[in-house]
Amino acid sequence: MTLIIEKISELMSKININIKDKIFVNQPTLPELEEFIPLLEEIWESKNLTNMGKFHQELEKKLCEFLDVKYISLFANGTLALIAALQVMRISGEVITTPYSFVATTHALKWNGISPVFCDIEPNTYNLDPSKIENLITPKTTAIVPVHIYGNPCDVNKIEEIADIYGLKVIYDSAHAFGVKLKNESILNFGDLSVLSFHATKIFNTFEGGAIICHDEKTKKRIDYLKNFGFANETTVIAPGINAKMNEMQAAIGLLQLKNVETNIQKRKKIAELYRNNLCNQNGITCIHEIDEVNHNYGYFPIFIDKDKFGISRDELYYKLRDNNIFARRYFYPLISQFQPYKGLESANSENLPIATKVTEQVISLPIYADLKNKDAERIVEIISSCRMRLVG
Ligand SMILES: *Cc1c(COP(=O)(O)O)cnc(C)c1O
Repeated sequence: MTLIIEKISELMSKININIKDKIFVNQPTLPELEEFIPLLEEIWESKNLTNMGKFHQELEKKLCEFLDVKYISLFANGTLALIAALQVMRISGEVITTPYSFVATTHALKWNGISPVFCDIEPNTYNLDPSKIENLITPKTTAIVPVHIYGNPCDVNKIEEIADIYGLKVIYDSAHAFGVKLKNESILNFGDLSVLSFHATKIFNTFEGGAIICHDEKTKKRIDYLKNFGFANETTVIAPGINAKMNEMQAAIGLLQLKNVETNIQKRKKIAELYRNNLCNQNGITCIHEIDEVNHNYGYFPIFIDKDKFGISRDELYYKLRDNNIFARRYFYPLISQFQPYKGLESANSENLPIATKVTEQVISLPIYADLKNKDAERIVEIISSCRMRLVG
C-alpha cells in the first residue's frame, strides 16, 4: 500500500514538474498579493463595488496621464468596448476591416448588424493596406476598423486621408497598442475612437477589462451613458445601452498593475532583442519588423516561416516546439475571413486577400512575457535553429 502511494506521489511530482516546465506564449504579470489586500479591504469597507466608484475614477485619471490621452472610459472587457464604440459613432451598413486579427474585431461588427468587408494587409506591418481600401468603398460604407496588429502602428495618416475624403469614421482596435507611441505621440490619439483590451494576455491587464479613448468631453459622456444601460440620469435613458462597466476590483488591480508596466515592457524588450539577434538572420525566418520612430511595447514576437528556405513548415515547427513543452501560438491563424460565420462573404475570398492568406500560413508567435527566463528564450532559439540545421546537414 505504501509502495503504491509512493509511486503515485512520485508520478504526481513528475506531472507537476512537467506542468511547471511548460512555457506558454504569454504569462500575465501580477502585483504582489499583499498590495492588493488593503485595496480589497477598502472596497469591503465602502460597499462600493461598481458603478464608476473611487478606484474606477482614479484609474481613468491615471491612465490618461500614463497613455497621454485626453479622455478614457473603462469597460468590463475589450470586446464590449468595441461593440459600444461602434454604437457611439452610430456606425451601420458596411465597415472595411482586416481579416488578420483576433476574431473579436469582426464579431463586434456582427453584434451591431454591420457587414464586415475584408481588406488585405501590408506585407511589412501586417496592418490594413490603405492602398486597397478605396476599391472596397460602396455607398453603404460608413467606417474603417483597422487594428494596430502586434502593436505596430497602422499607416494612420493615409487612413485618415481616405476617411476624410469619403466621410468615413475610423475606429482603431488598439488591443495590442497599449503605450505605443509614433514620433512621441500616443498612437491611441488617432482615429475617431481607439479601443483597448486589458485582458490577462495583454501588456496591461485588469484580469478582464477594456477602454475607449476619445478626444472630447461630449463623446466621453455618450460613451459613459452607453456602457451603463443608456442612463443619462436617474430617469432618462438616451439609447439602448449595455452593461459594460468595469467594476471596482478590476480598477483597483489596474492601479497596481500600472506601476509595473514600464519595467515589464523593458523586460519584454530584452527577450525580443534576444530573439531578434539569434533568429532574424537565419534563412527562412522573417521576424516582425520594427518600425522607425515607434516606441514599441513588445507584446508579441511573431516570426514567419518560409518552408522552402527553412526546411520545415510553420505547422511542423509549431508541433516540434510543443513536443518540447513550448506552447507558441499561431497568432493569427486562421484568418477571421476563414471562420464559418464569415467565409461566405464576397470579400472573404482568398484571391482578394493574397498577403493575409500567405502570412497566416507562415506565422508563429513565440513566448514573450516579463518573467520569461533568458535561458528559456535561449532554449526556444536552440530548438528552432536545430529544426533548420537538419535541412542543411
Ligand atoms: C484581445 C483582443 C480583443 C478582445 O479583447 P477582450 O478584452 O479579450 O474582450 C479584441 N481585438 C484584438 C485585436 C485583441 O487582441
